[in-house]
Amino acid sequence: MRQAMASAEVGDDVFGEDPTVLRLQERVADLLGKEAALFVPSGSMANQLAVRVQTQPGDEVICEAACHIVNYESAAAPVLSGVQLLPIHGDRGRLSPEQVSAAVRHAYYWEPQSRLVCLENTANKAGGTVLDQDEVVAVGEVVRSRGLAFHLDGARLWNAAVASGLSEKELAAPFDTVSVCLSKGLGAPIGSLLAGPAEVVTKAHRWRKVLGGGMRQVGILAAAGLHALEHHRSDLAADHARARRLASGLASCGSVTIDPDSVETNIVMFDVEGFTALEALERLREAGVLMVPFGPQRIRATTHRDLGDADIEAALAACGRVLG
Ligand SMILES: *Cc1c(COP(=O)(O)O)cnc(C)c1O
Repeated sequence: MRQAMASAEVGDDVFGEDPTVLRLQERVADLLGKEAALFVPSGSMANQLAVRVQTQPGDEVICEAACHIVNYESAAAPVLSGVQLLPIHGDRGRLSPEQVSAAVRHAYYWEPQSRLVCLENTANKAGGTVLDQDEVVAVGEVVRSRGLAFHLDGARLWNAAVASGLSEKELAAPFDTVSVCLSKGLGAPIGSLLAGPAEVVTKAHRWRKVLGGGMRQVGILAAAGLHALEHHRSDLAADHARARRLASGLASCGSVTIDPDSVETNIVMFDVEGFTALEALERLREAGVLMVPFGPQRIRATTHRDLGDADIEAALAACGRVLG
């Protein structure tokens, strides 16, 4: 990847003249079955562009309550787009067509105007769960019939594809716009894309500049992304297997509560007893194991391409010592 970055052909992408960025955008549009794609610095920017160009101030965006757009984007949607988020509590990141249908407003002038529905696949906070694609298609039919737009936060769409056996294109098909990250499991240093209809991506291109996201000789980053797409996607299956191994090992740890069968991709969620999550994480950090808090007792671990089988065993040994 470093070699691909060093030898990347570059140009000024604010003038649309960086051939490597153009190649990445075409590659991702093609992979997702969309007309166009736009390279952006972060997944948050990709999501926020999708919100910005598919809503007006005063509109409402229906999302699953645990999603990234609601919880981890610093309230960007109300700040940048003047929209209200309507978080609906789903089942492991999933929203049913009935839930979405019931959440759509009736166009009374005193109500917010429903405009956009967002889903997340895999669903991070739910533990990296893969959405049921038949249900997604059914939600898409509701969205379409009510005249709304449909966005997918696909930061980990690559993991969903590997775990489900469906292609990224199939998973993306029900949606108008899809964001994807190159910097999560795929291991590129920086970068996300927003894909969708050409007209929507053209608007997002303008808004990317508004947000200060127009970058110049950024082909060095696009080259890393292209390398990750070609060479790292198939490795995600190994991350998933290591996450399952981690979960089954954690299950035999006395102070840990976990359902190993809940692990579908590269995310492992578990609860600790007898410590707070922060206390447990401090002890784990001292033992050389890094995880993040996801609740008072809840901890999230992720596996990724920089970890091997021996690292998982070392982490489990440390958990056994530290958590008992
Ligand atoms: C990481 C992530 C993003 C994007 O995060 P950035 O840090 O802005 O790149 C978006 N959605 C989900 C579900 C994520 O996990």
